[in-house]
Amino acid sequence: MLQAFNELAPFVVPLSILFGLLVGSFLNVVIYRVPVMMERSWTVFAKEHLGMQATEEELRPFNLIKPDSRCPKCESPVKPWQNIPVISYLLLRGRCGTCKTPISKRYPAIELLTALLFGIVAWRYGWSMVTLGGLLFTAMLVALTFIDADTQYLPDQLTLPLIWIGLLFNLNGAFVPLYSAVLGAFWGYMALWLLCYIYKLLTGKIGMGGGDFKLLAALGAWLGVGILPVLVFMSAFIGIIMAVIMKVAKGQQFAFGPSLAIAGWIIFIANDEVMALVRWWLNSSGF
Ligand SMILES: [Zn+2]
Repeated sequence: MLQAFNELAPFVVPLSILFGLLVGSFLNVVIYRVPVMMERSWTVFAKEHLGMQATEEELRPFNLIKPDSRCPKCESPVKPWQNIPVISYLLLRGRCGTCKTPISKRYPAIELLTALLFGIVAWRYGWSMVTLGGLLFTAMLVALTFIDADTQYLPDQLTLPLIWIGLLFNLNGAFVPLYSAVLGAFWGYMALWLLCYIYKLLTGKIGMGGGDFKLLAALGAWLGVGILPVLVFMSAFIGIIMAVIMKVAKGQQFAFGPSLAIAGWIIFIANDEVMALVRWWLNSSGF
């Protein structure tokens, strides 16, 4: 059995790309539904707390499976053949099969992006446990990136499991030794918490959401404590570039989560190269 399984090893990159298309399709559902699920549960909780009656609509099941996907415009259900990643979008020419309302290009884009990132992980780490963990890491970071960009939330339902899975992943030192993963989770959280606390003492303002602390804790659990300073520096750099590209208006809320996720993923793929670059930079600037 294991032998037959291992014969798939030469195809790890194309298999991961195909798998990425499917996972990307599921991530589209996660990205759209998880924030709605959170807001619905807050509403029901708040109403209960205030002794108010939640409406029937608010109590209707809404999760990753229920209700079935529908066109937001004409509410006609999405048929199975219309749910094939990328291909359905092309067959439908980017429009709803019933009412011809354009479907957002973001759906196939997220499917293609996930496939591409999965392919890179498989190319980098081959037929291994690191690849298996890396695909999960990648999928969760894609979901968190787009949810944060859309809503400014980094849901606990994703950040907290990402911490535990990162610690499990490194239980036998898959990426870093376990002590480094545990310290990474601890200092990832504490570093941003402290920074925020000091910022609040100085300015009276809250500079960052608690979700960012948990995401950095998760990245620390996966990538180890040693990389955290570089990770934060890289995230700030990526954040500035993104703010310039997207022309973030003055005073507008800017999501830090995507920058953290992108920097964390780059370090996962190119840890040695990033560290070599840092050493070169430190040497050439005379430290
Ligand atoms: Zn429609």
